[in-house]
Amino acid sequence: MLQDMTHGELDDFAGEIIDGRKLSDDELRKLLSMDEKDELEKLYYVSRKVRDHFFGNRVFLYSFVYFSTYCKNKCTFCYYRQSNDIERYRLDAEEVRKICRALKNESIHMVDLTMGEDPYFHDSPEKFVELVRTVKEETDLPIMISPGVMDHGVLRKLHENGADFLALYQETHDMDLYRKLRVGQSFQERMDARAFAKDTGYCVEDGILTGIGEDVESVISSLRGMEKSSPNMVRVMTFVPQEGTPLEDTRSQSSVSELRIISILRIMFPDKLIPASLDLEGIDGMVHRLNAGANVVTSIIPAESTLEGVVNYDRKLEERDRDPKSVIKRLKKMGMEPAEQADFNRIIEASACGA
Ligand code: SF4
Repeated sequence: MLQDMTHGELDDFAGEIIDGRKLSDDELRKLLSMDEKDELEKLYYVSRKVRDHFFGNRVFLYSFVYFSTYCKNKCTFCYYRQSNDIERYRLDAEEVRKICRALKNESIHMVDLTMGEDPYFHDSPEKFVELVRTVKEETDLPIMISPGVMDHGVLRKLHENGADFLALYQETHDMDLYRKLRVGQSFQERMDARAFAKDTGYCVEDGILTGIGEDVESVISSLRGMEKSSPNMVRVMTFVPQEGTPLEDTRSQSSVSELRIISILRIMFPDKLIPASLDLEGIDGMVHRLNAGANVVTSIIPAESTLEGVVNYDRKLEERDRDPKSVIKRLKKMGMEPAEQADFNRIIEASACGA
């Protein structure tokens, strides 16, 4: 679809997207089938043009606090699934406070508080509310929560106490694949939780996995499914086989599919937040993802941190380079820089007013 276009025609196509043109399923099919380096470069070029129109060279940075690695669920792709015999931890409010202090003078726009579906917090949600309050007190930054499915009353309470953003990934909107990935979990409950959060004034994020056995039609149903909750942020991440899980022996995929989908997400959701996670391939991977059209860097952790990531490409490495200073240094090299906090707050405030 883009392969025969000149630079001028690619610019025109980006202009049409900026003006509101929507992609048909047939166009999605063509974009998702692109494989040649030259045509992918054209796709990335269009996506960067669209992103730069809405965000310039400014990038948002999220700090990642994985505060409990306990979980009652058995997602087949996940290292932290309940039956995996691994070391786990759960931080208390004072430990979280300490992490927040380390983040205070860094250029972070939002703190992402993530956990597995830990029964300790799910059965006593006031303990989670206390953590949210602690982060707000210490940082006064917007807070994203990624706690799995929580009931509506708890979501409301968390919002009243400072939670601004709910990340709740469907992983796929293809029902057959969903049942294989999120074993025993309701598809609809996740959709409803995101919709409720949106109505309550949260910003919401949905996300999908790639490299997990999906075909083009399955990806299209996921992309269309993501549109349904009008998310403020849309994510795709490459599945990385994890030790001790049912999918441990699946063949690892390169990041090409993820980069292609990041670009397509940018074309489908031109003015939305799209992350480049450090969790998969570190800072070099961040550069590729930003060059494919992402505008947020996620999974930033303080230097010296021993906290877990979700995929944790660096679990066994001695040196980690996911700290804010290393990220900003590399952004500057790319001609990009951290956005103003006020720019991020405007996104949060618009959602809180139902915009
Ligand atoms: S993906 Fe989340 S809910 Fe599923 S097992 Fe892992 S931590 Fe638990």
